[in-house]
Amino acid sequence: MQLLVPTNWDPALIAPLSRLEASIELYGVLPTSMIGSGGSGPDNVYMMGGQAEEYIKQAHSAGLKFDYLLNAPSMSNMEWDEKTHRELLEHLEWINSIEVDSVTVTIPYLVELIKRQFPHLKTRVSTIAHVDSVARAKSFELLGADSITLDFNINRDFKLLKAIRNAVSCELALLANNLCLYKCPYEYYHHDSLGHASQSYNPLNGCYVDYCVVRCTLDRLCDISQNIKFRCVRPEDIHACEEICIDVVKISGRSMPTEQILSAATAYSSRHYQGNLYDILNVLTPKIGLANSGSPGAQNHTIATPPKLYIDNQALEGFMDFFRKQNCLSECHQCNYCQKIANEVIQFDRNEVDEYVAMLNAFLDNLSSSRIFKVKAEVRSRRR
Ligand code: SF4
Ligand code: SF4
Repeated sequence: MQLLVPTNWDPALIAPLSRLEASIELYGVLPTSMIGSGGSGPDNVYMMGGQAEEYIKQAHSAGLKFDYLLNAPSMSNMEWDEKTHRELLEHLEWINSIEVDSVTVTIPYLVELIKRQFPHLKTRVSTIAHVDSVARAKSFELLGADSITLDFNINRDFKLLKAIRNAVSCELALLANNLCLYKCPYEYYHHDSLGHASQSYNPLNGCYVDYCVVRCTLDRLCDISQNIKFRCVRPEDIHACEEICIDVVKISGRSMPTEQILSAATAYSSRHYQGNLYDILNVLTPKIGLANSGSPGAQNHTIATPPKLYIDNQALEGFMDFFRKQNCLSECHQCNYCQKIANEVIQFDRNEVDEYVAMLNAFLDNLSSSRIFKVKAEVRSRRR
């Protein structure tokens, strides 16, 4: 099986990854770019194009492939503007010239454009495109996609995964270590916010409020069963995906520290991990205030690291079997399986969690009351 591993652009990742058993492809993107991505933010390392080019050369010399992300969910219609379209083509020419092995996109039009004008560039569909059915998988394959990273919400729906596998012949990938809420209600908004924040022509210069991550972190801490419901596939359960002929396991976490990326890649390549599962998951850290994406400029936000949970990975042995017969989409309101498992395998410090939840609630109160914005006072004074 092939592993897609995130890069934080640290050269120290390259040698250890090249020694792992699996066939490794790194993936990454500059913090801001023409098309944008689905995960940029203040955590990402500031890099210039020339440095990325050098990094990709080093990865190739060590026998690793490289996938470049172009996976923002929309370009605010800028792809149809003559001048921006020219820049888009120049950007793709640059990506082509630095000899990346593949690109990952979300926008269907980009699949067609790339396959028409850069036909040898392998084109992957991002999980952000929400390919969660046979119909969508077939449509993207018809557009020309060489590979599809499935919507992570279907990671444990084995019947559906098998049906998609039988319906398409392109490569299929699963995002394995995502801590995202199952059927996250903020997901579309979040990817949209990050996509725009990471685009070089964004009128707000990447400024955004991290509402979605504050919200989902709060949801995970107030309902601990969410940390079992989420669709992570443990390293030990990867064999279930191999049985269905899933070709690629993708690890998420471009903003994770080098040690954590290596630890996750080692676990997934050996299909074994001893200890706290939380340590190899991509846990996003909420930014309280206004966050500025990628650029070296001032960032008006506070990093608020969430309290650490302990999820006993060994105690989860066999827990995936339940999902082979359960229909989570329609039966979650009358099933307490994840709550029961959470009670057995998760430990945390209640006081630390309560304090943190109070802080996030206070921030959300500032947002929903508009107090965080200066205009609130102006609007109020005009009303008088
Ligand atoms: S990071 Fe949070 S808000 Fe974003 S998709 Fe995942 S769970 Fe949802
Ligand atoms: S339906 Fe049951 S197993 Fe599925 S997510 Fe809900 S609680 Fe978990």
